[in-house]
Amino acid sequence: MIVDRQGRRFRNLRVSLTSACNYACTYCVPDGKRLVAAQDELSAEAMARGVAYLIESAGIERLRITGGEPLVSPKLETFMREVSVLGLEDISLTTNGQLLVRKLPVLVSAGIARLNVSLDTLDPGAFRSIARGGDLATVLEGMAQASAAGIRIKVNMVPLRGQNLDQVLPLLDYCLERGYELRFIELMRMGHLARDSNAFLQQFVSLQQLLDVIGERYEYLQADAPVDATAIRYQIPGQGYFGVIANESVPFCRTCSRLRLSSTGWLHGCLSSSNRHYIGDLLDKPRHQALPALQRLLVKALGDKQEVAFSGGATVMKIIGG
Ligand code: SAM
Repeated sequence: MIVDRQGRRFRNLRVSLTSACNYACTYCVPDGKRLVAAQDELSAEAMARGVAYLIESAGIERLRITGGEPLVSPKLETFMREVSVLGLEDISLTTNGQLLVRKLPVLVSAGIARLNVSLDTLDPGAFRSIARGGDLATVLEGMAQASAAGIRIKVNMVPLRGQNLDQVLPLLDYCLERGYELRFIELMRMGHLARDSNAFLQQFVSLQQLLDVIGERYEYLQADAPVDATAIRYQIPGQGYFGVIANESVPFCRTCSRLRLSSTGWLHGCLSSSNRHYIGDLLDKPRHQALPALQRLLVKALGDKQEVAFSGGATVMKIIGG
């Protein structure tokens, strides 16, 4: 197993199944252009083999499927079928929920137990202006059907000053009533936001500002969370939980165990580094040839991790999926 000086190793793999997306969220896709699949995307089979090799060589235990938007990818069904027999502790998926109703049978038959659904507002007008694609009611229906099918739902919201701060309490009420866990994600300095500090600061809402808003309506206590959790978890006694991924306010690089694989076969050891390592060519090779080469790249990828705090990244979330 590859471990760095801080005792970190890769346990959690995020696979971006495709770079195509049916939204163009303002903070992720600033030019608003529809994202399409890269021409050199790997096949579902090659990506699943990549996951198998990474389980063996990096000690990956948990997999999250992301994108782009994973539910738009024609590779979804094959990929899920192939990774579901690899003995992972957990497989989950992050989606904008737009195609959830349609794809639910695929997710259920692959044994998905947990879903993260990104939803920044319950206001249809604000939804249209932030997501620039899709339809709010369709997402809400998708979550209801997934929950009724026994899938645990977490809702991801990125609070943005001037755009959806008024939605923090309505979304929290909505999630508490339905047993969904709301996760607030502090805006990250990715892509254009890494280059334009003013644009970032104008929109950024800190952990404390968020807790002040929530404290107007709810009493909450900090709850326990695993050592390498990215979210700080809070309990609202008798009503449920919410979490905050506070990468600016409370950086978690010291315990980061994440590794990312892009849809075109690049490994990313850190969101804050522009280094990436190509493994696409190794995935056609037999195990005994691929694994030693992969080990060497994993050492480099682990070396890309920041020591303490995320400092911004040229890499864009839309490519490697958060
Ligand atoms: N399409 C899927 C979805 O909507 O969940 C998966 C990919 S999307 C890039 C993953 C998550 O990254 C979403 O919850 C999105 O809100 C978040 N995200 C994108 N850019 C971000 C940024 N600059 N800061 C914080 N979160 C961001």
